[in-house]
Amino acid sequence: MMHTPIKKSWAEPYKIKMVELLKMTTKAQRKKALLEAGYNTFLLRSEDLYIDLLTDSGTSAMSDHQWAGMMLGDEAYAGSRNFYHLEEVVRNIYGYKYLVPTHQGRGAENILSKILIKKGDIIPGNMYFTTTRLHQELAGGKFEDIIIDEAHDPENEFPFKGNVDLDKLEKLIKKHGAAKIPYISIATSVNMAGGQPISMKNLKELRTLTNKHGIRIIHDMTRVAENAHFIQQREKGYQHKSIRDIVKEINSYTDGATMSAKKDALVNIGGFLAVNEWDVFEEARNMVVVYEGLHTYGGLAGRDMEAMAIGIMESINDDHIHARVGQVVYLGEKMISYGVPIVKPIGGHGIFVDAKKFLPHIPQDQFPAQTLAAEVYLDSGVRTMERGVVSAGRKANGENYYPKLELVRFTIPRRVYTQAHMDVIAESTARVYERRHKINGLKMIYEPKYLRFFQARFEQLPK
Ligand SMILES: *Cc1c(COP(=O)(O)O)cnc(C)c1O
Repeated sequence: MMHTPIKKSWAEPYKIKMVELLKMTTKAQRKKALLEAGYNTFLLRSEDLYIDLLTDSGTSAMSDHQWAGMMLGDEAYAGSRNFYHLEEVVRNIYGYKYLVPTHQGRGAENILSKILIKKGDIIPGNMYFTTTRLHQELAGGKFEDIIIDEAHDPENEFPFKGNVDLDKLEKLIKKHGAAKIPYISIATSVNMAGGQPISMKNLKELRTLTNKHGIRIIHDMTRVAENAHFIQQREKGYQHKSIRDIVKEINSYTDGATMSAKKDALVNIGGFLAVNEWDVFEEARNMVVVYEGLHTYGGLAGRDMEAMAIGIMESINDDHIHARVGQVVYLGEKMISYGVPIVKPIGGHGIFVDAKKFLPHIPQDQFPAQTLAAEVYLDSGVRTMERGVVSAGRKANGENYYPKLELVRFTIPRRVYTQAHMDVIAESTARVYERRHKINGLKMIYEPKYLRFFQARFEQLPK
């Protein structure tokens, strides 16, 4: 008799204490909701969803310790004890010297950009992120992409697609001079590349090069623990190091960081700026008063800072991060087993389905990714997000950008859904894949002026 080989699975290092009931809908109800939403998943009401994969930002489930921490909120205007706890955790776990809390990641990006960037400066980075680049531009700087070419190719299985191309960087330094480059902007688990990690080796080489020229490295550490997981799994010499040690080593090669705690740090709201230079800290501590609040709360309640301090400790636990990324990989492998085309290697925070390959008969100006997101919702009530021609918007001359990547993002909230939910998501996507030839594209019937993907409305093209 044949036996299935025994494998060693990841599993959640927690059990469930409270549940949130979900409304189960019929296909007819979903059809009606989709029509009302103009085939745009952003316009669906949350109560009409079964599984919400729109984003992993601020959607984590907090632990019993975090909720208990909320009750320990010290709501003093100045000098809250929760601030000092958070400061201690940021120093011990992340290794940065000085902390300025902010309401979320973009609050930190605003302050940092205003302090370090002068008009005409160049900020090289490993792929842009929307809010990060916008704050760099608003401060008078110009973003230059220095990520390796592999990051732009969904077929390429290079294990560290978040790496910096050091030649591209050297050329930029030669062209503009180091004085025009206040810092290099480095993200761990590069979001826009599909959650792809940077290697420790690349980071060390980048540190050597930037030291030679006296240029800072500022770390977008929003998903640093997920990046550490990939280093532990894929990079030589790190198999036996803890996530906590790897995170600290990553940070040690950088001069400061901005953090959206709504991701890795397992809270629903919060962020911070952390730096090692006293002068930068002093200016940030002063500026935060203008935009966020006093430097010991930065737009957060005491209880939010407490939940963040505890969330950071939980986020660097090896068992937590293995289950977190393990769940994402489980979903990705299940999709691959059904033949669904996805971006590879599987990233840390979600699955990106290649809509151009999924619906090859739908031309890009009929919005294949938007169509696919609508069809998955219709099939099972799973909400995903378009990242393609709709998100890319129009050029100054009014023409559409036609991005190379036409993707649907299935982002997984942390500690929220079960493995059975992952099965439902994969099976639903596979069902849509099976009837892909019968799916028609969409026509845009309403287009807002800015960031059109949020509010645009569509109609199904006739069969
Ligand atoms: C979400 C995010 C930000 C912005 O943070 P907010 O908390 O949404 O303001 C910055 N960088 C990355 C990589 C992010 O994912």
